[in-house]
Amino acid sequence: MDQSKKKIIEALKDQRDIFGDDLFEEKKIIESKPAKTAQQKKEYIQPEKKAAAVKEPAKNSTQLFTKEKSDWEKAESLEQLNQMINNCTKCVLHKGRNNFVFGSGNPNADVMVIGEGPGAEEDKQGLPFVGRAGQLLTDILKAIKFSREEVYIGNIVKCRPPDNRTPLPDEMETCIPYLQKQIELIKPKLILCLGLTAAKGLLKKKDSLTSLRGQVFEYNGIKVMVTFHPAALLRNPNWKKDCWVDMQKFRKLYDELND
Ligand code: URA
Repeated sequence: MDQSKKKIIEALKDQRDIFGDDLFEEKKIIESKPAKTAQQKKEYIQPEKKAAAVKEPAKNSTQLFTKEKSDWEKAESLEQLNQMINNCTKCVLHKGRNNFVFGSGNPNADVMVIGEGPGAEEDKQGLPFVGRAGQLLTDILKAIKFSREEVYIGNIVKCRPPDNRTPLPDEMETCIPYLQKQIELIKPKLILCLGLTAAKGLLKKKDSLTSLRGQVFEYNGIKVMVTFHPAALLRNPNWKKDCWVDMQKFRKLYDELND
């Protein structure tokens, strides 16, 4: 895809994330049915006989209502979890990855930061937020007196989507349980979602970023706030002052939780 087309798509995506999708119309592709042949119109086609139902022995009542846990769900540390999932092939994104980007930082962090998914540099290094947006994230954290080493940084999806596109709903759904397990192991007091994809993924919210910013949500008893994605700030530097407002609120909330 040529660079100017890419930039226009990213700018439109930013606008949609921030202000919602009132201005955007879903494109509906209506497939026309192929016309019936004269032969098909006349013919009565015998429906296929139903296969005889396969009878399985009835499961006991606990099996019916509880899903057997996968091994990774039983992981007791981040390291163990990483080892168990970094060869994941559950969605198509694994096909294009150079590295699985598990996450990085303090395994006992009070603060967790969640982005969308790895970009080119992250895919190359196997670490989250190490490109230009990552540098800006480091500066944003520093501005509210957090170092990268004391927080934990993760993403909604752990493999790079092609052309840095937004992860698709099924890719998010497949990967989010890993993030949920990371949150369960880290037990942060506060989570910061960067951008609408992170907010949608974790909080299952459908609102625009404008309506989510400034509010305090809860995820399994953990407080969650939402702000701009640093990549969006690189494209729209005039949003940085609003991000600064969010970050001050975030720091204040953190200080209140630690009083
Ligand atoms: N953008 C993200 O959302 N995550 C990264 O790790 C890097 C860029």
